[in-house]
Amino acid sequence: MPSIKINFELKNAIRIFMKKILLVMLLLLTKAAVCQDLAIKGAVVYPSPQAKPMANAVVIIKNGRIVRIGEYSTLSIPKNMQVIDASGMYMTGGYWNSHVHFMETKWQGADTIAVARLAAQLNDMVNSRGFTHVFDLAELDFQNLKALRDRIDKGEVPGPSIRGVGVPLTPLNGSPFYIRPAKLPEVGDTATAVADVMAQIKAGATGIKLFTGSPNGREVVTMKVDVARAAVKTAHRYGIPVFVHPSTDAGVEVAIAAGVDVLAHVAPDAHRDWSRSTIMSLVQKHIAVIPTLKMFQWSLLTNGADTANNPLITTALQQLGSYYKAGGVVLFGTDVGYMTDYSTVAEFELMSRAGLHFRDILQSLTTAPAKKFGSVATCGRIAPGMDADIVLLTADPAQDSRNFASVAYTISKGRIIYSRQ
Ligand SMILES: [Zn+2]
Repeated sequence: MPSIKINFELKNAIRIFMKKILLVMLLLLTKAAVCQDLAIKGAVVYPSPQAKPMANAVVIIKNGRIVRIGEYSTLSIPKNMQVIDASGMYMTGGYWNSHVHFMETKWQGADTIAVARLAAQLNDMVNSRGFTHVFDLAELDFQNLKALRDRIDKGEVPGPSIRGVGVPLTPLNGSPFYIRPAKLPEVGDTATAVADVMAQIKAGATGIKLFTGSPNGREVVTMKVDVARAAVKTAHRYGIPVFVHPSTDAGVEVAIAAGVDVLAHVAPDAHRDWSRSTIMSLVQKHIAVIPTLKMFQWSLLTNGADTANNPLITTALQQLGSYYKAGGVVLFGTDVGYMTDYSTVAEFELMSRAGLHFRDILQSLTTAPAKKFGSVATCGRIAPGMDADIVLLTADPAQDSRNFASVAYTISKGRIIYSRQ
């Protein structure tokens, strides 16, 4: 009875194979579910942008949360706990980068990229820069971003929490020249705007992005106010923030009139500072601004232009400075992923040149985005009960803003996602 025997062997082989798969799945799940219990001792801690620094501190982390923070001399570390000796280091909350893209070709097929390669890519662009949260502000293939997010959330690769706007909407004939030959959904009336926003939300978007001013290569096309307003109203009905790529003053005015939540860039193309009334409207309507200053510098450099005293940079600095001085909410963001230079040093330096101090920049990295994106109860600060999202730096950012880039450890929900060895 050879056929029965073969059948039996086959069944047995399948059974063993299924057992192996279950074991691998169990291991992956365990890896994802178990966060390291961790004590970090000896650092100077900046618990929040407002709070006084705490020298020689101990922070105790259990199950991904901060449970205690105190002075090393008064707080004992539980036995058998992994300890990071952070003497000589500086601790802040985990950073947010509110403007990133995973659009370079190396991210394609995110569901099948080998773990080691994917981890190295994330390390290079995100983890080693201190980011524990990122907002992706445009993908042409949103399913690919979700695949990447799922692999991080399952604990398969170390990385930040990812939110994303999906595919942005532009005015009629407004697909930006720099994404050609691809085209974005073009919206000319309110009904289409509502339908397109609904489609993005259904696909899993946790934000919406509009090009209120969109450079199509010949001109900058401005979105109609009623179209932008309909999109914002729909997104807000689902509690989702709306980001805008403004390009021009007209694009900024449409954003203001529509009541959006965030400008994804300053808008220096016309080489003039924002008017007083524009600034006051942005502030009064609580429209936050992501500067992306280095991206403007990088664009000039990649086109062979001189950046010293360039009016594009001068204007970008003016707009951010005027907005910040009037009380505006700044969210740190670099447009990395569109910009292929991942270093954050120049962004910190330019923010300082625009007049932002240490605490303002820390706020733009931590509490401001946590508040803007509805996570203020769980992240942004180092305090008992908060998620253990932590950055350890080798130099004091209060002395020089560029030191925000001197990342030695990045910890996301109690898990070390980067350590400089
Ligand atoms: Zn961008």
